[in-house]
Amino acid sequence: MNTRRDFLQKIGASALMLQLSSITAFSNTPGQIEQPYQGKVLRVAIMGLGGYGTRVAEAMKACTKAKLVGVISGTPSKIKDWQAKYNLPEKNCYNYENFDQVKDNPDIDAIYVITPNALHHNQVIRVAKAGKHAICEKPMALNAKEGQEMIAACKKANVKLLVGYRMHFEPQTLEVIRMRNAGDFGKIMFFQGQCGFKTGDPNQWRLNKALAGGGSMMDIGIYAINGARYMVGEEPIWVTAQETKTDPIKFKEGVDETIQFQLGFPSGAVASLLSSYNINHLDRFFMSGDNGFAELQPSTGYGPITGRTHKGELTQPITTHQTVQMDEMATIIFENKQPVVPVNGEEGLKDLKIIDAVYQAVKTGKKVTLTA
Ligand code: NAD
Repeated sequence: MNTRRDFLQKIGASALMLQLSSITAFSNTPGQIEQPYQGKVLRVAIMGLGGYGTRVAEAMKACTKAKLVGVISGTPSKIKDWQAKYNLPEKNCYNYENFDQVKDNPDIDAIYVITPNALHHNQVIRVAKAGKHAICEKPMALNAKEGQEMIAACKKANVKLLVGYRMHFEPQTLEVIRMRNAGDFGKIMFFQGQCGFKTGDPNQWRLNKALAGGGSMMDIGIYAINGARYMVGEEPIWVTAQETKTDPIKFKEGVDETIQFQLGFPSGAVASLLSSYNINHLDRFFMSGDNGFAELQPSTGYGPITGRTHKGELTQPITTHQTVQMDEMATIIFENKQPVVPVNGEEGLKDLKIIDAVYQAVKTGKKVTLTA
């Protein structure tokens, strides 16, 4: 059986990727002497020391502009393990009850929230109130209303809110976007995004509506939505959606198993998308324009991302997504850098509005119009 990890992790590439990820740390121009980074380092505490938190922490070892300096966890034994592993001082370690005290800690700049989806809203707002920058995993929240409240809280506290959209820094993906902007594909007519795998443990929080906010759509359908937006380069104006449920015991009320959905864009381009917790080997983007095409497969897993266009294979460097993401986020936070595809709260909100519309379309069977 494919697991979530199989979906995201393509074996054997991590060591190579860690080495290649250091291209962000040094000048890569031929003939130039490599200079180690001497600028400001983003000091990050991770909240939620589960599967993805662990992956981010490991990837951050190779960062030059960001550093793991603390943790927030409800499990004291995990805190001890992480302290030993990452050399974290006691004063930078918190639990879910006392982490508001981080406001008095000048040695932490940002908190990366990597907990179950339903907790993001409240936790990010608490981070903002503590005066720290918030990095939040996808989906940023359970719905657009929550997302708007998080954006408002961060604005009020004058801190940045960023979403862990690691694909926005992935080189093959960025090359397709560059080619689209250069007009290489001509007028974009069609995008197809397929994201799915057979999920395992029926007792996991991802199949619990209260903690996940839904099912596959909240977890991986969001990649198809986000991908449709950054590949086509437009914001959709309508949504239609159809749900299929073959196992109502495992996928209870409000927890979607498989949703096929469609987006329409102002230019007339359309997207056909699939999100599933019950179909294996779905990790593919395809885009067609009047003059060419692009295909990424895998398209959103941990890598390596591979792809081709009508001009040939994509040959951009392979990176460790989370290493590059965290280095880039340091620059976004400290230098106000504008990435090619945004990773701010407004970007997270756009996906949440579409998720709201998908669920509404499933419920009503009707086409839902999206407004900006
Ligand atoms: P996980 O189950 O492996 O870890 C979740 C962590 O949250 C655990 O350490 C758990 O102890 C902690 N936690 C705190 N309060 C909890 C509660 N009330 N109930 C359950 N757990 C609680 O999950 P994960 O895979 O690390 O996912 C965490 C977040 O990261 C999710 O929002 C997920 O969508 C996101 N994620 C993103 C990516 C990506 O590629 N960007 C990949 C995986 C997960």
